[in-house]
Amino acid sequence: MNSSCPFCKSKNLKIINEDNYQYNSYSFILAKHKNCTEIELIRDAQPMLCESCSLSFFYNWISLADNLILYNKLVPTHPSCLNIVNKKKHFKSDYLLSRLINLSKSNISDENQGKSRREANSVLNSIGMESIGNDLLSEQKVKRIIDRFKEKILNYDLDNMLIAGTKYAGFNHKYVEELIRDYNSISSIEDFVDSNKNKFSYTEIGCPTWGFLNTPNLQNISLCFSDDIAENFWSSHHEFLNKSTQKLNRNYSVKSWNEIEYSRIIGAFACIDHSNNLSIFIKNLIAKTKFLIGTFEESPLGVAPPIQHHYNLNYQSLNYLLSTLSLNYTLLINKSLYEKYTFFEIKLF
Ligand SMILES: [Zn+2]
Repeated sequence: MNSSCPFCKSKNLKIINEDNYQYNSYSFILAKHKNCTEIELIRDAQPMLCESCSLSFFYNWISLADNLILYNKLVPTHPSCLNIVNKKKHFKSDYLLSRLINLSKSNISDENQGKSRREANSVLNSIGMESIGNDLLSEQKVKRIIDRFKEKILNYDLDNMLIAGTKYAGFNHKYVEELIRDYNSISSIEDFVDSNKNKFSYTEIGCPTWGFLNTPNLQNISLCFSDDIAENFWSSHHEFLNKSTQKLNRNYSVKSWNEIEYSRIIGAFACIDHSNNLSIFIKNLIAKTKFLIGTFEESPLGVAPPIQHHYNLNYQSLNYLLSTLSLNYTLLINKSLYEKYTFFEIKLF
């Protein structure tokens, strides 16, 4: 094999086999669109593990055209946005039961079982209940899950119960809000000599679902959403809130990347692993900030990334990439903040 790792250039690569593929709503939808199976879709993208820096990535990732079709046509609203909107509807036992029944029947296709399993697990994981595995569910097991679910839902307030970073909760998290506020309160005023209208305290880019814009806890700082730096995403932010009152109360500006001069902090949530070339992407971002925060989805070592992601990052591989950019930086990682995402902070000196 002549291919090499996009981060460390090592040729020490291993092809990731089918046991370590991940299926999700994107692989389900894109495979349907391309008229192939999910396995074929992922195999064709050539998932590989670099044994030198521990990055897994797609060597032949889905094309720009497929990416555009995904976000513009096939999945025009982020599935998590839809979940958040349907929070009340999906936390009814009828919704969960219909998915569990599919998982107790053997005459349903693997792909549809996968879809039912994901939908059920999104609900269960959001309130801290155990995930459902690959085995067919017995009638008894279905009853046990439903009983436990009802007990939780009846006895606790849903909004307080939802776990940050899960599909029904979004990313809102006190720690990050405090980090944004604190960093802005201690930043030197020199960055902002003439309160230029194209300099911001905090700018968010990329995936619009998971942001901190519009939170009531970020007041008195200038907030911005850049709608075009990450090419593979929807261009509006939090638009699932689509109510005129909320639009009127929007507390952030929307700017294209070129219009932004500087931002004290840039937040890149659920976004950097979608990049076509992460090295170039990070170089673009740090040209306009000294503090980059965000999340990436971290799967176990050696597992193929979900198909909509180019990379499956971890501390080691991201640190390796940064070390090749000749920067003075610190990288901090916090895995405990969100369910399946890793929170990162990159500070430049
Ligand atoms: Zn590598």
